[in-house]
Amino acid sequence: MLTRRDVFFASGAAIAALTVGRIGQAAKAAPLYEVTHTDAEWRKLLTPAQYDVLRQQGTERPFTSPLLHEHRVGTFACAGCDLPLFSSKTKYNSGTGWPSFWKPLDGAVDVAQDNSLGMVRTAVSCHRCGGHLGHVFNDGPPPTGLRYCINGVALKFVPASNPNI
Ligand code: FE
Repeated sequence: MLTRRDVFFASGAAIAALTVGRIGQAAKAAPLYEVTHTDAEWRKLLTPAQYDVLRQQGTERPFTSPLLHEHRVGTFACAGCDLPLFSSKTKYNSGTGWPSFWKPLDGAVDVAQDNSLGMVRTAVSCHRCGGHLGHVFNDGPPPTGLRYCINGVALKFVPASNPNI
């Protein structure tokens, strides 16, 4: 015969099981971003080249980005959602043909393992919209030793209003 105590423990276990189940599902689900659009909306908002990189994980041809020659003080923001991603203070010439940085702004990007094209790389994406930006490698300069190899077409340069800051 079930006592009140048995029922109490049984229901507690059931709630615990439900909670664990929900957390498990949330962890498996696609990450939720602050800025989201349907695929059709992204196609309207972005140029074909931006769409190819940001939404299709494409790669621009090296040495084609005008941002390679952008040496002003300012911020490089996401072309998809305007989130500031990299400071000009961390930009350097890697010689690879893609805009390169040794550090993103705090909390601006997410990283994930990318096994595409028969390589194991670490993909870098915008924290706010999930747009693909490029990859990060371990052959960068001090102080981090990291090379954020970013498609220029995924970025918008915003000059600092006061370049002396
Ligand atoms: Fe973004």
